[in-house]
Amino acid sequence: MNNDLSQNLIELKGIGPKTYQKLEKNGIVTYLDLLNFFPKDYIEYKEPIKYKDLEENYFVTICGKFVSRPFLRRGRIDVVTAKLKIDGGLVDLVWFRMPYIPSTVNLTSNYYIYGRIKKKNGKYIIEQGTIFTKEKYEKRLQSLTPVYHLFEGISNNFIEKSINEIIKSDNFKNDKISSQDTFMKLAKEACIELPKENIYKVMHFPINKDEFLRTRNYLVFKEFLVFLLSIRKGRKREEDVNCMKQRDTKLALDIINKLPFELTNDQKNVLENMLNTMSGDEKLECLLQGDVGSGKTIIAFVLMLYVAINDYQAVMMAPTEVLANQHFAKMKKMINDFNLPFNVELITGSIKGKQRKEALERVAKGESQIIIGTHALLQEKVQYKNVALVITDEQHKFGVKQREKLYNKGNSPHFLVMSATPIPRTLSLILYGDLKMETIKTMPKGRKPIKNLLISSNERVKAHALLKREIEAGRQGYVICPLVDFSETRSGENVIEYTKKLADLFKGVAKVGTLHGKMSEEEKNGIMQDFKEHKIDILVSTTVVEVGIDVPNATCMVIENADTFGLASLHQLRGRIGRGNFQSYCVFVNGSKKDSNKRRLEVISNTNDGFKIADEDLKARGPGELFGIRQAGQLKFDFGDLYQDSEILGKASKLCDEILEKDKELASEKYSFLKFYIKDLNIV
Ligand code: ADP
Ligand code: MG
Repeated sequence: MNNDLSQNLIELKGIGPKTYQKLEKNGIVTYLDLLNFFPKDYIEYKEPIKYKDLEENYFVTICGKFVSRPFLRRGRIDVVTAKLKIDGGLVDLVWFRMPYIPSTVNLTSNYYIYGRIKKKNGKYIIEQGTIFTKEKYEKRLQSLTPVYHLFEGISNNFIEKSINEIIKSDNFKNDKISSQDTFMKLAKEACIELPKENIYKVMHFPINKDEFLRTRNYLVFKEFLVFLLSIRKGRKREEDVNCMKQRDTKLALDIINKLPFELTNDQKNVLENMLNTMSGDEKLECLLQGDVGSGKTIIAFVLMLYVAINDYQAVMMAPTEVLANQHFAKMKKMINDFNLPFNVELITGSIKGKQRKEALERVAKGESQIIIGTHALLQEKVQYKNVALVITDEQHKFGVKQREKLYNKGNSPHFLVMSATPIPRTLSLILYGDLKMETIKTMPKGRKPIKNLLISSNERVKAHALLKREIEAGRQGYVICPLVDFSETRSGENVIEYTKKLADLFKGVAKVGTLHGKMSEEEKNGIMQDFKEHKIDILVSTTVVEVGIDVPNATCMVIENADTFGLASLHQLRGRIGRGNFQSYCVFVNGSKKDSNKRRLEVISNTNDGFKIADEDLKARGPGELFGIRQAGQLKFDFGDLYQDSEILGKASKLCDEILEKDKELASEKYSFLKFYIKDLNIV
């Protein structure tokens, strides 16, 4: 028996061998592991709402008295039905498999019911609502209820209970959790407010909101500091390029002159700068920023061809298979059109067996000069002959570690990272300070600015009418929903139900397809291909369409529950339309009644300028807005958010530089513990 937090969970009350196995499979073995399994979200119970404010699909609390005793119908499944009289009307309630409900309530008290509002036969209904007495609910009102990332056979309740057991145990009381003290010192140096109570207690059972915010911010600081140290420590790159001896730019310039469109001035400048760098003795280490649709791909392609012309290999990594496939097809076409003697190779998770083996052989022997793929490119089995250029597309979807890994596969190659996420300059300096920055500001000629429309969810018919009009004109459209399927903890439209609804509504008018992250890569690729070939008119999708997809015939996008997305994500999503010569339309459906949400959405519906939006986003997001805003398309952190926590990031960055200046190798007594964290770090 250990008496500290390294104690095995099998010793904990309530955990049997079966449960233990499930936890172990997910890497949770010790008391400390479970304590570090922090909630992914919190439910904030709100004051009950009135009948007139009820809205389908949203999680709410209602309060009132039962009109009559809840009625139990016994059967294969026990069903309890009831009606609650609330301010302004009646709401139906249903519970399945909970036959005990009628005996737990009376007709004289007020009850609070929490659940998702649905509409059936014109009436509002809550299924499987949680019932609270007045006293219980008032307690909840002041606290946040943790929501954990669940895996098979493990419930939220179970995790809550188990963590509670750990916190009650002597092991917990005995433990000093030493490293935290050391981070506290660093946090103090960086002028971060320190938590006053035990971090685990506060994060798992937040009762006091001030203390919760303090603790969370401290963890954000810790996370940022470790992140920055790990990307800045030991950064040593050879200054010069080891490969690319002959450098012939003439052919590359030929290609530019023969493109089917004329490059914009910004594209020309950027390309010229890069080609100059690469053909001199300097090394290209560059971040190419350009708003969605500004035409970054062609820059990458010309550089890759330039490398191939000089008998070296060029590798490009994209964050999704769909995007990698798209690049691959475009590159192949380009090589064909220009009659160039190169092989392009596609390496993704879906390419398997013999096909993969042969592809890898061609890459290793140098028979393929241009290699395009996903994360699969990082695998050890992928060996190159002479890589002189590595490119990551949509860099913000990758970790810095992945970029380094790809880089290390070459012999000190040139490298280019491309990102459409217009992060404000202050942030990009912190994250990419070591790279030279090139920016494409202007859009290709002939683009019509996207027209935007901001509506509330009860005006949804307008959005559907617009979709219909575009489809009938031969165009295509996207509908974006925040959720894949019905969710117990999140409000909002979901892709599965929405697809059915639209298919019904647009019967005979439009073919409706579905895309979401829970589909296999193969399914996703198939759907995207169908959409590109216009076998699908409307694609209902989650944010998986966000990165890079190029279907110029798509001119209409409806974003449901737009209020639940960060502005940067919304801008990325909108970038999927307005890519051709047709007029495009984006409809933001605001599902929230809050003024602050409306103001945020007004920012994006009033401008198409990504950099302006990024700055506004930074300004608009006060520290009050903790939950509910998902910043898809950013570097993902467990606690921190690059936008919201930019101030903490700045402080961590300053301290990081100070530390490395004093102790580059982190060898001193004061800092050596940091090495442990850095080694362990797995940035996704
Ligand atoms: P992003 O910068 O978002 O990666 P893409 O490279 O996908 O943008 O380019 C968007 C679309 O614009 C593509 O269809 C591409 O072929 C086209 N395009 C790029 N540059 C030009 C240009 N100078 N003139 C016209 N069309 C262009
Ligand atoms: Mg792109």
